[in-house]
Amino acid sequence: MDLTKKDKRHVIHPWSDLGSDAEPMVIESGKGVHVFDSDGNRYLDSISGMWCVNLGYGNEEMAKAISDQCVQLAYYTPFGAMASPPSIQLAHELSQLTPGDLNFFQFTNSGSTAVESAIRFVHYYFNCLGQPEKKHIIYRENAYHGSTYLTASLNGKKCDRSYFNYITDIVHSTSDPNPYKKPEGMSIEDFCDLRVRELKDKILEIGPDKVACFIAEPVMGSGGVIVPPPGYHKKTLDVCREYDVLYISDEVVTAFGRLGHYFASEDVFGIVPDIITVAKGITSGYQPLGAAIISDKLVNRISGESASENSYYTNGFTYSGHPVTCAAALKYLEIMKREKINDHVLEVGSHFMKRLKTLKEFPIVGDVRGVCLMACVECVVSDNEEENIAVAQRVDEHCQAKGLIVRPYENLCILSPPLIIDKAGADQIVDILRDSIISTMNEMG
Ligand code: PMP
Repeated sequence: MDLTKKDKRHVIHPWSDLGSDAEPMVIESGKGVHVFDSDGNRYLDSISGMWCVNLGYGNEEMAKAISDQCVQLAYYTPFGAMASPPSIQLAHELSQLTPGDLNFFQFTNSGSTAVESAIRFVHYYFNCLGQPEKKHIIYRENAYHGSTYLTASLNGKKCDRSYFNYITDIVHSTSDPNPYKKPEGMSIEDFCDLRVRELKDKILEIGPDKVACFIAEPVMGSGGVIVPPPGYHKKTLDVCREYDVLYISDEVVTAFGRLGHYFASEDVFGIVPDIITVAKGITSGYQPLGAAIISDKLVNRISGESASENSYYTNGFTYSGHPVTCAAALKYLEIMKREKINDHVLEVGSHFMKRLKTLKEFPIVGDVRGVCLMACVECVVSDNEEENIAVAQRVDEHCQAKGLIVRPYENLCILSPPLIIDKAGADQIVDILRDSIISTMNEMG
């Protein structure tokens, strides 16, 4: 049996149609910004695997750091009072880079478990403070926060909510801040204030004594690269502060260079949240690692002398702070600094966005948006969603046939190339997209 048949027979893929006859595309190897399929075809990977392979493929320094740590100490338990050097060193190094007093790290093994741990911490925190009724969580339409029971219940994408069950009693959604969807004639400032007021109204409707936290991606990723209007982050944080609602910034996609900074919350949007969640790029996708990063203020309020009786922190995983994943993250941070990856992203990213925006000239392109190396092209031909999705899918198919992998999601082509891409590579992405849009328009007549 060849690989594709074995895959069809045995593997359940995330977000896949279990009844589909479509054969998987098997990616066998990668080098730099390119990947190669099992037929030997080469593709420019404009999605970094899944927003994560920041350094591109085949980085031998990363491979060596991982292999050396495997030989040194492949694993030891992080439970209770046990530790291994890489997680300690990583927490220390990260604390030099995080905003404000975000200096405590609960390591996990994915973005979902980072978000799940952040929320479990928030519940634990309010229980310790004697406010157990503060449990409710506000998320936004089109958000994506993960695929565990709790985090999936915070996903705001309609298409993600089908035949599964979700937690409903303590989760509430508010509108997303997508300027492209703002009511006609409304100024961007008024639109921002409208979305902020909706958050405030939601808190008041549930009751401030019941709302524990608001969770938001600084730029919404999987939901369509939604960049909120200027001032939105600061104003939503102010609302949260007013009602003692904790602010969780989900930086699983945006941290570690994608927007040209270690963390987008403070460096791009000027806020210091209470908790930041990270994963993906923290190891450049070379190892599965996530973290909930929690402020000194929160931890100190409930620990040490102020700790409640029996408040043992029973949350964590076998692989929390796994030595090999932490060694990979340490090496990635070293390379980021040495190669000035953030400066490179700021330079290539602004060139990329400028060139990408030229695609707006095509009538099937409704919007082009993004920041640095996190972008998307939205296809719009009518008010009919199905039609728009079909057009985006055709653009995506043409891209693939021309050697470019983009991430199709509904009527969007999502782009997040490896951070090492140069201006010529960025141009190539835009050129192939342009050709693919023209081919699609020609087919449509
Ligand atoms: N949060 C955000 C913002 C994400 O984009 C993702 C994954 N795309 C997650 C959480 C979940 O991460 P993981 O798939 O590693 O569990």
